[in-house]
Amino acid sequence: MTKQNLLRWYKFKGALQREDWLMPAYVGIDKEGIIRHLSTQAPVEGVALEVIDGYALPGFQNGHSHAFQYAMAGTAESHPAGTEDDFWSWREAMYGTALSVNPDQAEAIAAMLYAEMVRQGYTHVAEFHYLHHDKSGKPYANLAEMGERMVSAAQTAGIRITLIPVFYQKGGFGKAPEDRQRRFISGSTDSYLKLLEASRTAVRSYAAASLGLSVHSLRAVELGDIVSTFEQGPKDLPFHLHVAEQKKEVADCLAYTNERPMEWVLNHLPVNHRFNLVHSTHLDDDEVSRLAKTGAQVVLCPSTEGNLGDGIFRMKEYTQLGGRWTIGTDSHIGINPMEELRMIDYRQRLVTHRRNTFQGDAAHYLINEAITSGRVAMGKEVQEHFAPGLPLDAVVFKASSHLVETAHARNLSAVLVYTSDSSRILGTMVGGNWVVRDQHHQRGQLIKADFLKAMMDVRKE
Ligand SMILES: [Zn+2]
Repeated sequence: MTKQNLLRWYKFKGALQREDWLMPAYVGIDKEGIIRHLSTQAPVEGVALEVIDGYALPGFQNGHSHAFQYAMAGTAESHPAGTEDDFWSWREAMYGTALSVNPDQAEAIAAMLYAEMVRQGYTHVAEFHYLHHDKSGKPYANLAEMGERMVSAAQTAGIRITLIPVFYQKGGFGKAPEDRQRRFISGSTDSYLKLLEASRTAVRSYAAASLGLSVHSLRAVELGDIVSTFEQGPKDLPFHLHVAEQKKEVADCLAYTNERPMEWVLNHLPVNHRFNLVHSTHLDDDEVSRLAKTGAQVVLCPSTEGNLGDGIFRMKEYTQLGGRWTIGTDSHIGINPMEELRMIDYRQRLVTHRRNTFQGDAAHYLINEAITSGRVAMGKEVQEHFAPGLPLDAVVFKASSHLVETAHARNLSAVLVYTSDSSRILGTMVGGNWVVRDQHHQRGQLIKADFLKAMMDVRKE
């Protein structure tokens, strides 16, 4: 038997690479789901092929998730006349959810969310995890109990996960933590690093799990402890941090430090490609140009940022300076990667009154950057979308949907990004296996039943 016969073979109508489409794309994978052969040429005769009437994009990375917040998606959208509803009142509702979920419920909610992410084309999620302790604020016997549940949910849903245990210490600049934040709190850098080590054990239970390092934000950790956490933490992990999401946060930071939040980060931390700066909404000219030169990723969460009324990241200026970025879905009010990419472009068009936010094929650029920098945000550096040695993670769009079938190859990426919804997806593969096919998740019934039970119990309490 030849080596090629040991592989499983797929033929896609096309697979998108950084430079162009590979059409058709013959992909041979080994039993671990790793690509061993990739070509426009058919393998030797006699090999059994699964012929797929679809175009494969690399699976998307979701660079920023708080899974428990999915339980409140759509529940904070009613604003009675005369009430002040802004980010900070939304945060009050979020605390209510955070205080109400037990480990089983948190896992069931996360599994449903992650299954939905896979259905929409994400194959890897960065879980920015700060719901650490029990409802009274006491650490669980296993410090990483709740993080372990996120890993377990990812395994159930068939998605890769980078678990990012978050250091959360304070109730605002120079303020003690509030009682409502009791499930989040690590008192010191040392206690956070213990939690991180326990989380390292948690990710060992799932081959598709990895670890990240994080502090929540400048307002949530004493500034000296942010520096010591970065210095004392492992040097091989991606580092994630919320920065400058809200105007109030910028004003509070200025009052406390005499520096703007991004200015403080750039002045006091050795910002490089390991840094993933979530939101980065409110930047001045100097911050935009300094940040663009660092190689750090900005993690944009457009549907959540829009929902929370945060503001608009200065994308056009930042990318013209060579700045790097990727996407996340944060509160999960929206979990469609194409919607995030469209919003990134459209919010620039709306404020600049110009259509050409990016030069050349905007859709191809958006996909390339979201994928390549998204992988860096997970701690991986891989240049090509599909290549021998990489797992076959892909979201496959139907070739037979009417706009795709009539599209010229040069417009194909744009048709997918600007016109499609999830009904155009044929399925999503992780490690060469169809986790979702024709909208049906492999374990969809079980995941949904557990989610319904968890949500009924959470809302009863
Ligand atoms: Zn966040």
